[in-house]
Amino acid sequence: MSANPYPRPSVAHSIAALRETVGQWRRAGESVAMVPTMGALHQGHLDLVRAGLARRDRVVVSIFVNPAQFAPHEDFDAYPRTLDSDLDKLAGVGADVVFAPSAREMYPEGFATRIVPEGAALGLETDFRPHFFGGVATVVAKLLLACLADDAMFGEKDYQQLAVVRQLVRDLNIPTAIVGCPTTREADGLAMSSRNAYLTAAERAAAPVLHAAMQDAARAIRGGAMIEAALAPARERILAAGFRDLNYLVVRHAVTLAEIKDPTSETMRMLVAAWIGKTRLIDNIAV
Ligand code: AMP
Repeated sequence: MSANPYPRPSVAHSIAALRETVGQWRRAGESVAMVPTMGALHQGHLDLVRAGLARRDRVVVSIFVNPAQFAPHEDFDAYPRTLDSDLDKLAGVGADVVFAPSAREMYPEGFATRIVPEGAALGLETDFRPHFFGGVATVVAKLLLACLADDAMFGEKDYQQLAVVRQLVRDLNIPTAIVGCPTTREADGLAMSSRNAYLTAAERAAAPVLHAAMQDAARAIRGGAMIEAALAPARERILAAGFRDLNYLVVRHAVTLAEIKDPTSETMRMLVAAWIGKTRLIDNIAV
């Protein structure tokens, strides 16, 4: 007996099997949403699935730890892989199919094409992870083209990634609408992330300062403070709380991610990336 209201989703390991399933749905007149993930699912991922099911008849969740978006020194090997419990969690929300390809299925012998995004991909994450958005854009293009869903759900948690993906589907005419979804947070404000599992107890206790410091800085800016005057104390607070390296804490144009001169004239987004111990966390909020 299962405690879950829905059956476990079936698993497609090949692109051909995924297309076969989606083809059956299409012939029955059903619509489809896709949720691309790297697995180690948490409530944030499940909220994307729920948002997909609210819009469409069927939801495909892809689970693929994409080697192309990790540099050799990064955490590809350590990244949590929890397919069995992921399937249980997805049964709890009613996802229909999991697409879980092997690296060989996605990057077969002779694979030799890479998408190189510019525009929204320049700066911020790219300054610290130069390989990252090329790997993301390439795999997201492949996943979207394998599924050809009506909608693909992406979290605002990875705000620059969302902008890069929007740019990707526009520039390459990929016929899937990109739907951005709000960040799901722990009760203390920490943005949910599969990488939170790396945190020691002390690091986990310190981590919510990222969100708290951003909220205070955003409030100060809304109250008329200059951007840098609001960000300087927030940076100090994050470092004092135990983060060892602040890659960036900035305010950018919410759509283009361009630098902002005049705080009153644009919709603004505050974005942060910082290291605590061996873990790099990112977050962002609307200003
Ligand atoms: P990941 O498995 O971390 O690559 O993330 C897969 C998708 O889930 C991406 O679109 C992320 O932006 C989204 N996501 C991750 N964490 C959260 C969160 N806390 N709230 C909402 N979406 C999230």
